Amino acid sequence: ITPVEKILLDTIKANGPVSFATYMQMCLSHPTEGYYMKSANSIFGSRGDFITSPEISQVFGELVGVWLLSQYMQNAAPGTHIQIIELGPGRGTLMADVLRTLMQLTPVKSALRSVLLVETSPALRDAQSEVLKQWSEVPGITVKWHESLDDVCLDDNAFTMLVAHEFFDALPFHLLERSHQGWQEVMITVDPDTTAKTVLRASDLPKPLTDPSVDMTLPLSSSRSRLRPVLSSVPSPISNLLGRSSPRFHELPVGSRIEVSPAAFRIAQKIGEIIGSLGRKGAGLLVDYGAGHVFDNSFRAFKGHKIVDPFYLPGQCDLTVNVDFTYLSEALAGTATRHGPLTQHDFLTRMGMHLRVKKLQDAARPERRKSIEDAANRLVDLMGMGKQYKVMGV
Ligand code: SAH
Repeated sequence: ITPVEKILLDTIKANGPVSFATYMQMCLSHPTEGYYMKSANSIFGSRGDFITSPEISQVFGELVGVWLLSQYMQNAAPGTHIQIIELGPGRGTLMADVLRTLMQLTPVKSALRSVLLVETSPALRDAQSEVLKQWSEVPGITVKWHESLDDVCLDDNAFTMLVAHEFFDALPFHLLERSHQGWQEVMITVDPDTTAKTVLRASDLPKPLTDPSVDMTLPLSSSRSRLRPVLSSVPSPISNLLGRSSPRFHELPVGSRIEVSPAAFRIAQKIGEIIGSLGRKGAGLLVDYGAGHVFDNSFRAFKGHKIVDPFYLPGQCDLTVNVDFTYLSEALAGTATRHGPLTQHDFLTRMGMHLRVKKLQDAARPERRKSIEDAANRLVDLMGMGKQYKVMGV
């Protein structure tokens, strides 16, 4: 039993089933035992559990930087100060690449005032601080960390550049099922739980998604898990509220399931306020697994670069749920203009990825040229990352 699993089993014994949101929150962000509280090396990269686009090729962060710059040049008066915010910076690689790109360019060089990082994990903050050290030493630029976007001190007159890469997919979600009574929440209970007055559907046995870029050979028996989903017997205030939180959900037939993240909605609303309300100006890029619709069964875990059952080794695997970009767009309505989502393939190729790769290859030693191209191509592969990741502009 992992430490997080022990805490969950005790909680369920004392208080009854927990929501998927509580499960995800505990597994990823429990203050001492959560997955993201560990050292960055055990999470990211070839020795960790997964690898993300900025870690695969520097071209990713460079093109994100160029997009942000283009928005600044189109929308801000020359010389306007810049504050740049990243949500969930991981190892800090994306921000390092974005800053390296932006700071070579005259319009930004003297305008950048602050780099604001929203990160809950002390271990990852340490890793980020190491990677971004050179920028914190530049006079006139402040690099600061915050627990939440609500805590960030903003300069209302500055232009905000915001990035969130693989951030929204890590936020807790609730799993709801439509019944004749309304929306009921699917909870997590202990198996066997003789006391639960609830119903389990046959389809509740977790089935990992098929993902062509991921090897799924890790032996895994979901029947060995001590935790299992269970449908609440009646709608609750939260399930009713979330079920009504998008007009799209009303049209779904009885029996439908939806993965809904109120945390994602709230943060997207906040992004809209920061970028678009009260005469503020800014631009943001949200990049994640997902699409422009709600998902019913995308919750999964990663361990050692393989997709595993989300109940496998709680607290020791990365957990992810696809992002409903239309839900984020609904949260941003009224404050900010939204563009996309586009596939990562379309975004990067339209931003001139191949031209940039060619430049890097020309400057590299011959033996490095192929690996530079292979890494970039992985980002736009239509059988993998190029299609699975979507990019939304705000
Ligand atoms: N953007 C990085 C890391 C993605 S992993 C990359 O693409 O490589 C998710 C990141 O979000 C981690 O840094 C994690 O600690 C952070 N995170 C997760 N939930 C968070 C929350 N509620 N608030 C702030 N940061 C969070």
